Amino acid sequence: MIAPTPKRYVFMDVGQGDAALSQSGSHIYLVDTGPEGGIVRKIGEYLGRRKYLDVVFISHYDKDHSGGALEIAKRYEIGALVFPSADGKTYPDTTSMPYELFEAMNIARARGTRVTAVTSGTKIDFGEEQLEILSPDIRMKLKGDNDNSIVIFAIAKPKRILFAADISQKAEEKLMRKYGKLLRADILKVAHHGAKSSTGDRLLKYVRPELAIISVGKNFYGHPAKETLQRLILAGAKIRRTDYEGDIQLEK
Ligand SMILES: [Zn+2]
Repeated sequence: MIAPTPKRYVFMDVGQGDAALSQSGSHIYLVDTGPEGGIVRKIGEYLGRRKYLDVVFISHYDKDHSGGALEIAKRYEIGALVFPSADGKTYPDTTSMPYELFEAMNIARARGTRVTAVTSGTKIDFGEEQLEILSPDIRMKLKGDNDNSIVIFAIAKPKRILFAADISQKAEEKLMRKYGKLLRADILKVAHHGAKSSTGDRLLKYVRPELAIISVGKNFYGHPAKETLQRLILAGAKIRRTDYEGDIQLEK
């Protein structure tokens, strides 16, 4: 008998960085790849011999989110490799792309991967799970890679999850103005490893997460900030951290 495919999210412990795996019966996607080193082994623990990923999102180019892309491109077949589009173009900006990421993109493309860049409003329907890209949005006129990172709202009924990448409170304000109560989610992948400048009180009033996941490792930035942890606690969210627990698995 073949064991049924697990349906889960795994916030993988990749040290200081982000890498979340979403697995369902028919699809697997990855939100960020963590830094260089170890991601392939990590994914292998969950996917076994499967060597195909439907979608790999690179929320932005910072290496703590994109550094593992090259190893993945070398060893996995990828359906679509998705980058943020801060300028509305459907192809990623390669001028500011780190070289290894550029190489990853080229390797993947040569093997048939669709390479694309997305803005707000893009939707992906996996059947049992729907994704909507909330940002970047050129009309929000935000500056910098962090604030233009890909923010994903995922609905895997009954759970709703907000992947907030590395956005700051500036971007949060714009999202609240645009989406309001639609931001309500059960699970929040806390922005920017719990940085002080992200995850404002106002955002938490809209999202009202039951569970806050902080993907963080040893760092010199003071992540997660105690102010952010306090805001989450006051908002009633249960906090889970990859630096304390290692990989965090949630059943869908
Ligand atoms: Zn980061």
